[in-house]
Amino acid sequence: FWASVPQGPPDPILGVSEAFAKDQSSNKINVGVGAYRDENGKPYVLESVSKAEDILHQKRSNKEYLPITGEADFVKLASELAYGKDCKALQDGRIAVSQSISGTGALRIATGFLSMFYSGPRVVYLPNPTWGNHIPVVEQTGMRVARYRYFDKKTVGLDFDGMKEDIKAAEQGSIILLHACAQNPTGIDPTQDQWKELCEITKAKKHLVLFDMAYQGFASGDIIRDAFAVRYFVEQGHQILLAQSFAKNLGLYGERIGTFSMVCTNKEEKDRIQSQVKRVIRPLYSSPPLHGAQLVATILGSPELYEQWLGEVKKMADRIIAMRERLYDLLVEFKTPGEWGHIKSQIGMFSFTGLTPEQVDALKDHAHVYMTRDGRISMAGLNEGNIQYFAESVSKAVKG
Ligand code: PMP
Repeated sequence: FWASVPQGPPDPILGVSEAFAKDQSSNKINVGVGAYRDENGKPYVLESVSKAEDILHQKRSNKEYLPITGEADFVKLASELAYGKDCKALQDGRIAVSQSISGTGALRIATGFLSMFYSGPRVVYLPNPTWGNHIPVVEQTGMRVARYRYFDKKTVGLDFDGMKEDIKAAEQGSIILLHACAQNPTGIDPTQDQWKELCEITKAKKHLVLFDMAYQGFASGDIIRDAFAVRYFVEQGHQILLAQSFAKNLGLYGERIGTFSMVCTNKEEKDRIQSQVKRVIRPLYSSPPLHGAQLVATILGSPELYEQWLGEVKKMADRIIAMRERLYDLLVEFKTPGEWGHIKSQIGMFSFTGLTPEQVDALKDHAHVYMTRDGRISMAGLNEGNIQYFAESVSKAVKG
């Protein structure tokens, strides 16, 4: 049956972890995958999550199926976190929200829905560069991918003029995907003034905006600040689509928990939309998993656990910021050729270092340091125990 099926390429991100696992060196460092590590380089379970686990264990609730759109308390609390409790659209009951299989699943519901119902141009504009998985998630539903400029190699910063030009030049009513905060892989976000301009431009062109919010709280340590773009666009009347993930900010990676939502014009429209979102979800996985939804609802629904969680998100964000400062200082101390200020100014989990694919290969071959070939590093993979060796190795690779 399958003689003509070719070998698929390794996943560019998860392939790095596979190579890392095979490396026997005791010095090895993995800054490839975007998962938080504590100051000892270990995966980190938040204390608020452990407490919620205990509460759930005591409750001994049943394991019945959830509704297609997910656990009701979770969906309500999660959307309040994203949009803000005082969001008018939320209060009006005109946001269609469903639980999703984390951020990826939310994006897949979005593209599934758009491919079935969107009457505008069937093209999704992605930033260049973007998280690699955006491309197949769009293409697998038969939609087309187009790109807008985002990264300026010369300044290692945002190419805001290029971004605006491309979004303005896109056919009216195109679908524009925006990273809500902590852009992956660059770690470079528009400023609040730039967001306001983007809001105007996309509105004038009647574009449909799809926000991908995988890092709320992780960028600045402040969940309100990181939700600025999403909340501002909604306030200004954009009918956005939103993919929300709890993988990073609650450390719930493997629980696969998030939401997909669409802001509608009124409640009647919301009910129609939600009935069709259900038809997208049902053949994909029937109904979503229970445990992550219960965990998140327990935390967001308890004033005490919620406060504790806010402190923990901030702690994670602050540790990453401290590692940025430290890495910058060390690269300068080792007299590494080039300008490294972007390491400090970029935000979120990642830094787009500007290392070339050849330098990345040299780091792997000579120093057992693993990262994706675009030179992206997960700052969370660095800690006091390995940062000196990491900076020294990078410095050597750059000097050649
Ligand atoms: N969007 C972006 C930009 C991401 O970086 C990620 C995670 N790497 C996701 C979405 C989805 O992650 P998950 O499915 O684990 O929530």
